[in-house]
Amino acid sequence: MSHFSAPDQYVVIGNPIAHSKSPSIHAHFAGICAQHMEYARLLAPLDGFAASVAAFRQAGGKGANVTVPFKLEAYALATQLSPRAQLAGAVNTLSFNGDQIFGDNTDGVGLVNDIVRNAGIALKNKRILLLGAGGAARGVLLPLLSEQPAEFVIANRTLSKAEELIVLAQQHGNGTVKLQSCVWAALQGRFDLIINATSASLSDEVPPISATLFDSNTLAYDMMYGAQMTAFLRFAQTQGAQLRDGLGMLVEQAAESFYIWRGVRPETAALMLELRRALESQ
Ligand code: NDP
Repeated sequence: MSHFSAPDQYVVIGNPIAHSKSPSIHAHFAGICAQHMEYARLLAPLDGFAASVAAFRQAGGKGANVTVPFKLEAYALATQLSPRAQLAGAVNTLSFNGDQIFGDNTDGVGLVNDIVRNAGIALKNKRILLLGAGGAARGVLLPLLSEQPAEFVIANRTLSKAEELIVLAQQHGNGTVKLQSCVWAALQGRFDLIINATSASLSDEVPPISATLFDSNTLAYDMMYGAQMTAFLRFAQTQGAQLRDGLGMLVEQAAESFYIWRGVRPETAALMLELRRALESQ
């Protein structure tokens, strides 16, 4: 495309949205991949998601990331859905093409890419524990199962929600992964990977799980990230586990959205370092 033409327009839509790091992440990707595009924040009224999307499309917008609280509405709005968005029941990436609205969910592949590519930890034949059964947990189900772990356990405060996710996993799995739902107290044995997808970290709490689930080869992954280590990661640290927070997931889900829109996969390592330094200087 000629650089004399207007840049392609993208947004992240949410409410609130001022805190979103997505514009700076995508500006970085556009720079290193030489893409003629702009990416902005769009605050949609709580009852005005569909209208905001319609106005943005009308103005020629090419695509949008969708964040809290609109991921379910984005799912409903899409005219086509990727399999991983179907299983997630939520959409964080919209692509506009004529009358069509393609919906995808890149959160799960972002998590998997951060673990497998960035941390260099293969998940095939491993024992994985997912803590939590909300939207974030559901979003990572299919990409995690696609890595063919030996065993996949979901534990949640409300057991029925973990059971529902296991039923979904059974419908989409290839039958080789041992699937199980659990209450905290019934969890047993060590795990290779323990992912905290609960929002307990927001109140500096840890789900009440046993320390014996961790050893020095366990990767403890908290989907949350921030200037301070979360309570879950501090707990895992006392057991000698390897630790990783959700900053990499944030960057990798953005990289996957960028790839969907632009057909180019951006390098993420330098940006990750930059964002980590910025967090630590807060
Ligand atoms: P939801 O509200 O959909 O689900 C919350 C989950 O946390 C439920 O399983 C809930 O259990 C559980 N929970 C809440 N409070 C506690 C507690 N005190 N103790 C134990 N369990 C608790 O939230 P989301 O799934 O959307 O988000 C979860 C986390 O993931 C958030 O911290 C969010 O910031 C993070 N996230 C990070 C992303 C990234 O890119 N790094 C992307 C998406 C999310 P119950 O079912 O019993 O209520």
